[in-house]
Amino acid sequence: MLYFSKFDEQIQENMKIHRFYINTPLQNKREVEIKDHELINQWKNVLRFNEEDKIILFDNSGYEFLFFIKEITDKRVRLVLLEEKKIDLGGGYDLHLIPALIKKDMFELMLEKVTEIGVQKFLPLLAERSIKNTLNLERSKSIIKEAAEQSGKVRIPEITEPEKLETILKNREVDRFYIALDPKGEKFSKKVLTNKKVAVFVGPEGGFTEKELSLFKENNISIVSLGEQILRAETAAIAITSILQLGE
Ligand code: SAM
Repeated sequence: MLYFSKFDEQIQENMKIHRFYINTPLQNKREVEIKDHELINQWKNVLRFNEEDKIILFDNSGYEFLFFIKEITDKRVRLVLLEEKKIDLGGGYDLHLIPALIKKDMFELMLEKVTEIGVQKFLPLLAERSIKNTLNLERSKSIIKEAAEQSGKVRIPEITEPEKLETILKNREVDRFYIALDPKGEKFSKKVLTNKKVAVFVGPEGGFTEKELSLFKENNISIVSLGEQILRAETAAIAITSILQLGE
């Protein structure tokens, strides 16, 4: 096939190739037909895609797929595969973030930034001092999806409905290493992590209560500090994600 093996060149040379998540398995499909009106509108009328334009799709399989547009109308888009490629996910952590609900704007900023850096799943926490106790889940999903698409992720992080600490603790995964961020904790070092699967609790604006800190202790969850400076909750979430996922 003429365009085969052009994947990396295309991506490196032409950053204008847009990436989209699609909720349909793409492996072994030489041709794909898109009928989703919202997506078609975005491609045709907003991004003004034309026949022969290239796009990258991913389907949460760990692969991404370079297609060209064979036909684009108001009702359907037909795509033909040029190449598929397995994505190297690197050596970071499989990270679940458990952020307490905080003010909407800051929570959303945090979702966007840490998705770019690398979080596999969000479990929003209804903390005792959370000022807010509701979350617009659909809006959060869309922020996460956009950040994942934009930053080249091949999987869209999941996000669950907000839950109380007791529930999250009861359902925690046996093979995952949990830590809770608190300025009064032991100084954090990656050396304490005995597992590549990690989950991090981050408190709300007013911090964790004594009761919540006791619950962490009772459940053998290490309470760790990022230093003496008190960071805003969203900054602490971005900082721990960066420490875990970026660099060596
Ligand atoms: N006065 C609150 C306290 O002492 O816990 C401050 C809370 S801080 C604004 C919000 C959350 O960010 C904290 O609950 C914690 O999870 C995280 N955080 C902020 N600074 C931190 C630090 N230096 N070390 C660890 N976690 C921190």
